[in-house]
Amino acid sequence: MFNKRIRIKTLLAIEETNYEATVMGWIRTFRNNQFIALNDGSTNNNIQIVATLGMFDEALLKRLTTGACIRASGTIIPSLGKGQKVELKATTIEILGDSDAETYPMQPKKHSLEFLRENAHMRFRTNTFGSVFRVRHALAFAIHKFFNDKGFIYLHTPIITASDAEGAGEMFKVTTLPLDGTAPKNEYDNINFKEDFFGRSTNLTVSGQLEGELAAMALSDIYTFGPTFRAENSNTTRHLAEFWMVEPEVAFNDLEDNMTLAEEFIKYVIKYAMENNKEDMEFLSLRLDEEEKQKPQSERSDMGLLEKLKFVVDNDFERLTYTEAIEILKNSNHNKKKKFKYLIEVWGTDLQSEHERYLVEKHFKKPVILTDYPKEIKSFYMRQNNDGKTVAAMDILAPGIGEIVGGSQREERMDKLIQRMEEMHVPVEELWWYLETRKFGTCPHAGFGLGFERLVQFVTGMSNIRDVIPFPRYPKSAEF
Ligand code: ATP
Ligand code: MN
Repeated sequence: MFNKRIRIKTLLAIEETNYEATVMGWIRTFRNNQFIALNDGSTNNNIQIVATLGMFDEALLKRLTTGACIRASGTIIPSLGKGQKVELKATTIEILGDSDAETYPMQPKKHSLEFLRENAHMRFRTNTFGSVFRVRHALAFAIHKFFNDKGFIYLHTPIITASDAEGAGEMFKVTTLPLDGTAPKNEYDNINFKEDFFGRSTNLTVSGQLEGELAAMALSDIYTFGPTFRAENSNTTRHLAEFWMVEPEVAFNDLEDNMTLAEEFIKYVIKYAMENNKEDMEFLSLRLDEEEKQKPQSERSDMGLLEKLKFVVDNDFERLTYTEAIEILKNSNHNKKKKFKYLIEVWGTDLQSEHERYLVEKHFKKPVILTDYPKEIKSFYMRQNNDGKTVAAMDILAPGIGEIVGGSQREERMDKLIQRMEEMHVPVEELWWYLETRKFGTCPHAGFGLGFERLVQFVTGMSNIRDVIPFPRYPKSAEF
């Protein structure tokens, strides 16, 4: 058996000394021809390995370069040097993989996030990305734990779908037909998808909601957690073409239940990461402080990352209607002084991220849940309110991010649903299966979608969404 190692995180947590241990990992630095800082990704803290002078031959020492992978065995002793409690006094050091010092991209110095994005295959080896991906993992785990503890069923909805009716965004086509112009045509001279793999035109899913609703109409409480795709050409710090979405769908929940679930859920997963990833969260908080120092005073946030997250966990989210929000925005000095790119003039306009961020960051200074949006700017499946103008929608807006959750109570009344589908030109026949839930035992129900990467952004304080997913997909970029 080769893998008889102790994780560096485990080792550093042990109080005793004078025991034998084997560690494996990648060299961060090698100084004075004696001291190796080794990292194995279990923590940002390195173990110092001492290669006592004279004990190892020159040829081996030359190969102890930044990035090289080694196995080292020896005795754990109290460290004489500063910066670490214990160190490993090596008796054997074996090179598992050499790393050319000249060409290794992750030099032991500060790299820009842009540079690291271009080297996404290697950026896991930096402290920042080590922390980001450990926290990402913790959040994913916490999501499953939260729903599992509440008795929800984790449902796998399809990634390839035929319905393009959801209207959540532009879709990527999935086909096995040739793209060189020789694909079979129909009588209208369009591509004949009847001859395609599935016998119809198909896409990558933009949301698992419609299928989630089908399951909730039997299993009561379900959630999905899977990849979703949007071919939207948005080059922003909050949009990806491939991202992960968490979508609970709950029978018998109304809009208020839905909001309460979402708020409890967000607080739970943030708290989980803060309690279980203390070191990483402290590191990320310091990293953000450094980044903030580069900004002009007026743009700096008045709270550090940990402080901000604690505030979010400890306080109620502000709940108000779209109509109330429009009033606040319309009467704001920001609007009067024309500081918004899109001025708020009439009821019914869609909110841009600048408006969302104004409400959250300037006005309320806490997360906000906006409800009851005009039906014109929301999807067909949202439940129509009695005023005939609004629907039972809710968006959760987070500081620094804007929209993090979008949800609603669903329209469970068949006649109202069909009427809205017709008004919005959603093909009723194509969604026959969706409508059958309303035909056979319909019930009030609600759900929401949380963009997982936006949550990871919020918790890690990373300003660009491309830095919280291992290999980001965005316009003109699908390397790795
Ligand atoms: P936005 O207005 O920010 O584009 P949306 O209204 O298109 O969002 P929904 O269709 O409601 O978003 O999707 C649910 C959630 O998925 C959003 O609240 C957000 O957290 C996340 N999300 C949406 N689009 C993207 C994207 N392109 N990249 C990453 N996350 C996204
Ligand atoms: Mn969008």
